[in-house]
Amino acid sequence: MQLRTDLTNRAEQAAYLAEALAGLYSGPPTPSPIRGGRRAALRRLRAFDARNYARARNDVAPRRNVSALSPYIRHGVLTLAEVRDSIISRFGLTPDTEKFVNELAWRAFWQLVYAHLGDQIYQDIEPAKRRARAPRRSLPPEVVSAQTGLVCIDESLQELYTTGYMHNHARMWVAAYAQHWLGVDWREGAELFYRHLLDGDPASNSLSWQWVGSTFSHKPYIFNRQNVERFSGDAFCSRCALASGGCPFDDSYENLAWRLFGVSLAELEGR
Ligand SMILES: Cc1cc2nc3c(=O)[nH]c(=O)nc-3n(C[C@H](O)[C@H](O)[C@H](O)COP(=O)(O)OP(=O)(O)OC[C@H]3O[C@@H](n4cnc5c(N)ncnc54)[C@H](O)[C@@H]3O)c2cc1C
Repeated sequence: MQLRTDLTNRAEQAAYLAEALAGLYSGPPTPSPIRGGRRAALRRLRAFDARNYARARNDVAPRRNVSALSPYIRHGVLTLAEVRDSIISRFGLTPDTEKFVNELAWRAFWQLVYAHLGDQIYQDIEPAKRRARAPRRSLPPEVVSAQTGLVCIDESLQELYTTGYMHNHARMWVAAYAQHWLGVDWREGAELFYRHLLDGDPASNSLSWQWVGSTFSHKPYIFNRQNVERFSGDAFCSRCALASGGCPFDDSYENLAWRLFGVSLAELEGR
């Protein structure tokens, strides 16, 4: 739908906006289960058990081992320091809490890069180490509407649209799929995420998309079906119509490196 700026009559404006919104969000709005405010943030912080974090943080489903604190951290309801102190005071200094603090440090790092580079974060920070062979294209409508037929991608996007949250590992899958399999410019994917994420943050979002794409890392991030199955159990592949043929992720990393980038896995990884 084209943006109209010529409407001066209030009734016409209201009708136009209603139509535009109906096109964007079909069905009744679903309230996110994530509650705002300091009290909700502290409740969430105290409920988080970090004891299994290092081993299980990548499990997309069942997702019990990440904190879901990012919306509160993003909007300054919780500081990184108080989150760190709370976790260490309750669980001590262990490999799990160390890993958790490491992730907090990633957020701090992206913020420092943003403070240093400003709006340059919306440009490639470095040349891509490898460019995907897929012809460049815009974000396809079936991705935007979460109807690719790939359950792992569609349900991750649906979760984003209905709750404003997506697990980190699922963000990596969706970002890699869009860039490396479909040939979408990272900025388009980042914009889609930013529009829906309750933790949507210019630095964490843009720089993470660039990390996946290899314009801010030494290699593109790729994944395969085995990885999806390992970190989601039965949640996705067992219900995916493409699982018995046609899954674009169903291959070895070596083959995917050739298929997607035309190089060996060793070359892709810069070895
Ligand atoms: C493509 C892509 C886009 C992303 N966009 C955003 C974004 O817009 N806003 C955002 O806050 N994070 C973003 N991230 C980082 C990460 O996915 C989220 O911070 C994390 O999923 C939030 O969930 P959590 O609070 O349960 O994380 P936990 O695993 O419980 O981590 C605790 C906190 O550490 C920080 N953190 C964890 N992982 C990362 C990471 N990889 N990079 C930076 N900080 C991290 C977050 O503040 C998080 O709340 C993105 C990652 C990817 C791959």
